[in-house]
Amino acid sequence: MSAEFRYRCGECRYRTPWLDESEGAWQLAEHYRRRHPRVGPGGEFEIRRGWRDLFGRLFR
Ligand SMILES: [Zn+2]
Repeated sequence: MSAEFRYRCGECRYRTPWLDESEGAWQLAEHYRRRHPRVGPGGEFEIRRGWRDLFGRLFR
C-alpha cells in the first residue's frame, strides 16, 4: 500500500481527500488556479504512511 497524501490550502480551509502524491498535488494546484489565481501554490501536506504521520509545508 502506497503512502497517502493530503494537501491543505494555505489561503483558505480547502483540503484534499487522501490521495496519492501526484493526484493530491494536482488537485491542490487546480484549487489554487480556480480560487487563488494571484497566489502561488503553497499550503501544507500530510503523509499517512501506516504507523506514522508526517507533516510538512509546501514551498512558497
Ligand atoms: Zn484555498
